[in-house]
Amino acid sequence: MENLITGIHHITALAGRTQENIDFYTGILGLRLVKKTVNFDAPEVYHFYYGNEQGNPGSILTFFPYNKLSRGRHGKGMLNTTAFSVPVSSQNYWLQRLKRYYISFKQPQERFEGEIVVYFEDKDGLGLELVFNDKDERNGYGGGPVPGEYAIKGFYNAEIWEEGYERTAGLLTEQLNHTLISEKGNRFRFAANDLPGCYIDILCMPDSLRGLAGSGTVHHIAFATSDGKSQLEIRKKIVQRMLNPTPVIDRDYFTSVYFRELGGVLFEIATSGPGFAIDEDKAHLGEALKLPKQYEPYRNEIEKVLTPVNVNYDEWK
Ligand code: ZN
Repeated sequence: MENLITGIHHITALAGRTQENIDFYTGILGLRLVKKTVNFDAPEVYHFYYGNEQGNPGSILTFFPYNKLSRGRHGKGMLNTTAFSVPVSSQNYWLQRLKRYYISFKQPQERFEGEIVVYFEDKDGLGLELVFNDKDERNGYGGGPVPGEYAIKGFYNAEIWEEGYERTAGLLTEQLNHTLISEKGNRFRFAANDLPGCYIDILCMPDSLRGLAGSGTVHHIAFATSDGKSQLEIRKKIVQRMLNPTPVIDRDYFTSVYFRELGGVLFEIATSGPGFAIDEDKAHLGEALKLPKQYEPYRNEIEKVLTPVNVNYDEWK
């Protein structure tokens, strides 16, 4: 039987300026904007989804860009670093590219065997890494400014800081079918599958301050499950762990259940389908502003309050 949780589905963060966010992720990092919509709970704010060509689960980084949101703070009880998977052969290319756009980065370091890690941040201070490895079979998006052979393949891991790792570890292993894959120092790596895109690193950081929400911080992480049936099975387990999950919520491109783990991080369980091609042709993902049906009658008003944005992959070649 397939695991109920198959890996990371998406990670959602808070950003400052809209155009700067588009330029960083489509321009510098070469991800594809696969959906331009609004926050379904606050339609005056955009919701941008970036990913690989189709926006497959495990590749999707999303943002609520609030213009003028004040900066948050990394710390415990928060997902502080989102790591992308790239091939070993792309290391020179990426270091040159970061330099070209004046993005400072930490010197490459080996973390676990076969993975060289480079840490950097986006313009809002969101923690990012490139993990150079040769065990990822997925294809990156070759239609943007980054050549396909060097392109980001999706997530490698997510890094969560906690006071202690035990409670979150218990949830991951007992309810979310993760196992402990490796550990080093204060880093404990869990995964539903031993593959890039599935790794959750819990760091014990008792001396760190608590994280504070704001631009440059992660709002939540979603784990992928195959369909509505497996989602309800997981929901039942979350109820049994007394974590008070929401009902199933329709997000058009997947359905979601949310709950907060005891360390303070908001978790979501999202279905793998139907995906981003449900309301837009695959060749034109992300081009039009898509609204859920409850907001379609208010399209004119919504378009008036949203700052227009421009995606131009060619400018960043
Ligand atoms: Zn989400």
